[in-house]
Order: sequence, then C-alpha cells, then structure tokens
Amino acid sequence: MDKEKVLVVGAGTMGNGIAQVFATQGYRVTMVDVEQGLLDRGLAAIGGSLDRLVKKEKMTAADKEAALGRVEPAVGVPGASDAFLAIEAATENPEIKNRIFAQLAAACGEDAILASNTSSISITKLAGPIPRPQRFIGMHFMNPVPMMKLVEVIRGLETDDDTAAATVALSEKLGKTPVVVNDYPGFVANRILLPMINEAVYALMEGVADRDAIDTVMKLGMAHPMGPLQLADLIGLDVCLFIMEVLHRDLGDGKYRPCPLLRNMVAAGRLGRKTGRGFYDY
Ligand code: NAD
Repeated sequence: MDKEKVLVVGAGTMGNGIAQVFATQGYRVTMVDVEQGLLDRGLAAIGGSLDRLVKKEKMTAADKEAALGRVEPAVGVPGASDAFLAIEAATENPEIKNRIFAQLAAACGEDAILASNTSSISITKLAGPIPRPQRFIGMHFMNPVPMMKLVEVIRGLETDDDTAAATVALSEKLGKTPVVVNDYPGFVANRILLPMINEAVYALMEGVADRDAIDTVMKLGMAHPMGPLQLADLIGLDVCLFIMEVLHRDLGDGKYRPCPLLRNMVAAGRLGRKTGRGFYDY
C-alpha cells in the first residue's frame, strides 16, 4: 500500500476540489471519471483554482505546476490500485455509489480505507455490501473544498476506531478541521442546513419576501456569508431536493417535506450555478 497515493472517484465539483487539496499537500492522486471530457473539465477547474492561489500569492507558480503534475486522470476505476485511500465523490445516487464501491473493494488492498463524500446517503448502508465495512467511513468535504475548513467524518455502525482515527489524522494533515459524527440522515451539516434552505424556499413561494430580501435578512441578520437561496444555487437544487427527500423519508417527519417550489425548479432544469440558472441567473 502506498501511503502517498489516493484514488478520487468523480471529477466534478467536489471530486476535483478533493483531488486539488490532496495534490497540494504532496499526495499523488488518480482522479477517475466516466469520460475524458469530464476529466479535462476537472483538471481545468483545478488549474483555475490553483491559478487564483498563485495570483493571491498563497502559492508559487512552480508549486502549482508540481501539484497539477501529481493529478493523474483515469477513465473508469482502475482494476487494481495500491492507494491507501479511495474517496468517492460521484453523483449522489446509491446505485452508482454501490457499483463504484464494489469496484473499489476489489481493486484496493485489504487495509485501504474506502471513504464516501456523500451528502446524505447512509454510510452504514453504503458499507453494507462491501467485504470490510470496518474500513469504510464518510469523509464529507464542504464546497468549495480548497476554501472550506470542515471535514465531517461520519462513522458508520461498523467503522472501527483505527479507521476513524486515521481519517481524522489525515484530514488534519490536509489543513482541515475534522469533526466526527454518527451516521444518521443528513449527518449534522445537512440535517441542519438543508431544512433552513428548504424553509427559505417556502418563504419565497409563500410571498413572505422576495429573493433578495430573504438572502439579505440571513446575510446581515445572521452573519451568514451568503443567503440561503444563493447557497442553494451553489450546492445545486437537485442535490438540495435529494437531501430533503432523504431527511423526509428516513426520519419520517413532515417537517422535512421538500418545498413544492424546489421540486418545480428541479423539474424545470433550473439547478443553480451549474446550469446557469437557479434562484439567480449566472
Ligand atoms: P458533480 O455532478 O459535480 O460530479 C459528480 C461526478 O461523478 C460527475 O463528473 C460524474 O460523471 C461522475 N461519475 C458518475 N458516475 C461515475 C462513475 N461510475 N465513476 C466515476 N465517476 C462517476 O457532483 P458533486 O457536486 O461533485 O457531488 C459529488 C458528491 O459529493 C455527491 O455525493 C454529493 O452529494 C457530494 N457533495 C456535494 C456537495 C456540493 O456542494 N456540491 C457538497 C458536499 C458533498
């Protein structure tokens, strides 16, 4: 097992951010996606993000090139890998994730840690079908990954103490602050954040106030760096809806009912920044 080598599955918003953070800290990263075009986009996003750090003089141009050079793109999960950690940041869909973890469990060594960046899918459930659920854990980075300090470390029911301790130590090595939580729907971050966003969409739908007023109240009144509707656009409205559905279904409480306006926005393909249109135009 190579202690300097990490496999990141998914080169999207979160995957390329996670790959960047590991590569910046000196790890060699294999970044996996389903098509070369998506890998190219992920690499371009890392390049752009590192360029901004160079401009702000937080990194030298040489260090940027070295970090980029440590990210190796790959189409499809490799058949074998000696990475000590494989972290999955693919589409938030349990079938896709189960398939990826079956491939990772077969490809990686017995002692490798398998981690998911899922926002809402049960870590215990994802670990269920794999042979070594004690080496499985949630490693929930926040968006944008290079900027945000928190890593929510989620212990599944079978996660062992060694795996949790190694994940905490690794998160600290990346310059992040890990917080260990247990596996319940939404964990802590999304259990609290998403109902707030959902409530903001209800307030908009019911005409309590317009978009800008709602966001301004929460920014200036609660010292949030951005309003809940802006944040929903950043997260992706489809992702927000999916998480609300998990909370509603798995906790079985009507207070988590997804707002009908959120459903309509997703049905119309207004998913936020990634489609150029959500509560705001981009
Ligand atoms: P995204 O849609 O930007 O990226 C997902 C990527 O996964 C896509 O490029 C897709 O092609 C790839 N993918 C799908 N199936 C694959 C497979 N079989 N093998 C390899 N790659 C595959 O999504 P995202 O926003 O980066 O979210 C990824 C994960 O991170 C999700 O589980 C999400 O819930 C979680 N998350 C998202 C945020 C956020 O703010 N966007 C924050 C925290 C956690």
